[in-house]
Amino acid sequence: MKEKDLLARIGKLKTKSGTVETPLLFPVVNPSIQPVTPKRLKEEFGFEALITNAYILKKRYQNQPVEQGLQKFLGFDGVIMTDSGAYQILVYGNVEVNQAEIVKYQEDIGSDIATILDIPTGWKVTKEQATLTVNETLKRAKDFFKIKTRNDTLWVGPIQGGRHLDLVAKSAKEMGKLPFEIHALGSPTEVMESYRFDVLTDMIITAKQNMPIERPLHLFGAGHPIMFSLAIALGCDFFDSAAYALYARQNRYMTENGTWRLSELDYFPCQCPKCNAETPKEVMGKSAKEQENFLAEHNLYVCQAELRRIKQAIRDGRLWEHLEMRAHTHPALLTALRKLQKHQNFIEKHSPTVKKSGLFFFDSHSLSRPEVVHYQQTFSERYSPPENAKVLLFTPQTRTKPFHKAREFQNISQVLKRLNKTLSKTVHVCFYSAPFGVTPLDLDEVYPLSQHEVALPIEKETIEHVARQAANYIARSHYETVVLLHDPENWSDTISKACNKACHAKGINFEQVNTKDKTTKDILTRLEVILRNNLSE
Ligand SMILES: [Zn+2]
Repeated sequence: MKEKDLLARIGKLKTKSGTVETPLLFPVVNPSIQPVTPKRLKEEFGFEALITNAYILKKRYQNQPVEQGLQKFLGFDGVIMTDSGAYQILVYGNVEVNQAEIVKYQEDIGSDIATILDIPTGWKVTKEQATLTVNETLKRAKDFFKIKTRNDTLWVGPIQGGRHLDLVAKSAKEMGKLPFEIHALGSPTEVMESYRFDVLTDMIITAKQNMPIERPLHLFGAGHPIMFSLAIALGCDFFDSAAYALYARQNRYMTENGTWRLSELDYFPCQCPKCNAETPKEVMGKSAKEQENFLAEHNLYVCQAELRRIKQAIRDGRLWEHLEMRAHTHPALLTALRKLQKHQNFIEKHSPTVKKSGLFFFDSHSLSRPEVVHYQQTFSERYSPPENAKVLLFTPQTRTKPFHKAREFQNISQVLKRLNKTLSKTVHVCFYSAPFGVTPLDLDEVYPLSQHEVALPIEKETIEHVARQAANYIARSHYETVVLLHDPENWSDTISKACNKACHAKGINFEQVNTKDKTTKDILTRLEVILRNNLSE
């Protein structure tokens, strides 16, 4: 594994036909209705792997792919994954092929990555039906290890359960005990089609929590670039896309921000070779088949481009920012982003929290990001104020960072210098700041407390969050007095109320200097008086 961010990772997958970099998109190839040939997929579009359906191959071409070998049959010298026909079971009911046959067929044609004959759970099914699919898939998974004969094929153990998360957990746990090289999450197409990205988020996280986390995870049927960053951030390594071709057939133009009908477009919001060469009007003037081919090719380019952006974001440690950007292209994606709050501790546990660059905070959605969660956890578990600290001087964040270099802090430190030297040492300065909460002066250069930018003014939910952090800190520390520089303009009275309440509960003094409509000189004079009163023996 090379790079990580959130649960995403850039890795290498070794197969018998070569090594590929993940996250990886497998375009779905159906040899009988293929708009772009497999050869072109690799040479022109840069796809190093594709997926095709072993059940369809067997039914339509029988022994031909066995005799020629799959690569030669498809004209593709990259990595080839095969699905077993599980989707056909879901759509058409029982497929007239058994697991032993389809396993042998995949071995005979030489799939690099192959799938056991699982039973997809589907969407609108009762708990009982869902349980049956999970149990039967598990039974077949166990049987499979007695049937397989090749050791150079990577086998996929699908995780079922649908929206029943306890079943997803069970399925992931039991599948994870078997020696599969890869797992896949059976994601009902309904989840994608009805934009239930929040349900999908819960399903993926549940699978990740219960399977061996280092094993690659394939997300079936997630072929739209709008949701790649979400799925990758949650730890999916592979995707397949039939969507590029299906959308093209329905005259739909994909972008990383949503979908348009070709007829709705006056301008192509894309720089791919197809869109650069023609205008929407010109494409509309072509035959239906030519339009479909145009769209299929554009859709492939746009998927590939988004995947590259995501990989770069992983390397830069900016996947969260990328995710937030995409989340704002559709309310359903924002709903999913909000869902991450529920899973913030799990994500934090597996995510790097120190980055090459600073962090951008736009609003309270960022409060769930691992860097913030991590700081709050370590701060509350490990930080205690200096032993001789009696007074907490609590002052608002400054625009300049680190805070101790700001003019506002220089002024305060002048006041502290005027106090009796021994007494001034009992004053402990902390900043209240968004989104990290409490930043003691002695930590303000620790990453990422100075290496971030926050959008101003800070909104209500974030202020409330900071207020909670401040109150918790006061509750668990041993100050005798809290002196707050109260800045009602930027922080309303939320911080003041929370600190006052926390001090009251603890039975310690609470003083505040209101900074509104006062000159710096007035503020500092008032502060000095308060400190002197509270520091005198
Ligand atoms: Zn394009």
